[in-house]
Formats: sequence, C-alpha cells, structure tokens
Amino acid sequence: MTGWRWRQSWRPAGTREETALYIDAACEAIDRALDDRTDRTITRWLTPVCPECGRMPVETEAGTHVTYGDFVVVGCEGYWVISPAAVGIERPRWDDWRSAPAR
Ligand SMILES: [Zn+2]
Repeated sequence: MTGWRWRQSWRPAGTREETALYIDAACEAIDRALDDRTDRTITRWLTPVCPECGRMPVETEAGTHVTYGDFVVVGCEGYWVISPAAVGIERPRWDDWRSAPAR
C-alpha cells in the first residue's frame, strides 16, 4: 500500500467521454512525437511503466491499462499518464506523477 495516499491525489479520473477524448489526443501526440524526434512536447511523460502500479503492462492484462505502442496512456486505476494540457485537453485539475514523491 506504499504510495496509496499520494496516488489518491491523482483522482478523479475523467469521465468515460473525457477519457476517450484524452486517449485519442494522447495517441495522436505520441504519433507526432515518434514522427518528429525534435518534438519534445510530451517526451517527459512517455513511459513503458505504469506510474500507478510501477509495472510494465503485459498483454495478458489487456483492459486494465491503456497503452499505445510502448507507452502507457491510462494507468490501471484510471490515471491519465500524459499531461492532458500537453495534448490539448482542458482539465480543471491534473497532478503530474513526475513531480509526485518517490515511492
Ligand atoms: Zn498499472
């Protein structure tokens, strides 16, 4: 349960509709980042490891994580891994896991 308390501050996840829009925008942003390596807009949020469970999603777990290519887009508990602002989604509040305390 280490880390549970600060992970709660990442909530709430978006509604189903918001999350769908976010996933579309994040996947497009990942495509742009892979096409143009000089585009560093979202680079710092690209990770193959889920920030919520600290593990690399495996295919047998499909449905718990949303991944795109090698990268986690939505964590297993619904957290948006890539900054929504960086992919053009307005959001009232989003806590950056990159600045969360280390576990
Ligand atoms: Zn996870």
